[in-house]
Amino acid sequence: MKKTIILDNGHGIETPGKRSPIWKDGTQLFEWEFNRDVVRHIASKLTALGFDVRVIVPESSDISLSERVRRTNAICKERGAGNCVFISIHANAGGGTGWEAYTTPGQNNSDKFAAALYEEAEKKWGKQWKIRKDTSDGDADKEANFQVIKGANCPAVLVENFFMDTEKDCRYIMSPVGREACADVVVAAINSYCK
Ligand SMILES: [Zn+2]
Repeated sequence: MKKTIILDNGHGIETPGKRSPIWKDGTQLFEWEFNRDVVRHIASKLTALGFDVRVIVPESSDISLSERVRRTNAICKERGAGNCVFISIHANAGGGTGWEAYTTPGQNNSDKFAAALYEEAEKKWGKQWKIRKDTSDGDADKEANFQVIKGANCPAVLVENFFMDTEKDCRYIMSPVGREACADVVVAAINSYCK
């Protein structure tokens, strides 16, 4: 049986902050839109590969973190948590550059999934972009108790795709080629993790 892939797109159209500065040419990135666009790309690619794909926030509006966890675990209950993989898609902010992924503290299958993501990110971007790591605990992924990954009953990773408040990064994730690349890294990692 092909695994069920649970896709989360952070924030909503009404979420304050969570947007880039307005650049000199008047363009601006809104994180809710970016997250949903990347999730759409991931969903169509994974569906074509035969995965059972669930987008837990089809709404444009923000859905509370507790409701996102509830929706995730309802799917885990239906399909069996061992048959599910969760990923939450975000863009980063706060000044910096590059790509990074988070699991919760400790080692479990989420860390194996994150390792697959780092491997694909390195292949895709290692030459041109910074792949941000925390190797102090013996693996590359960063660790934080984000509610959506902490609450999920299945392996769960949160990805921060480049910095929307750094112009070079933001231009990349505003571009179709950048968005496609963000989706391709996730799809390749899911394929290799699920083998
Ligand atoms: Zn975010």
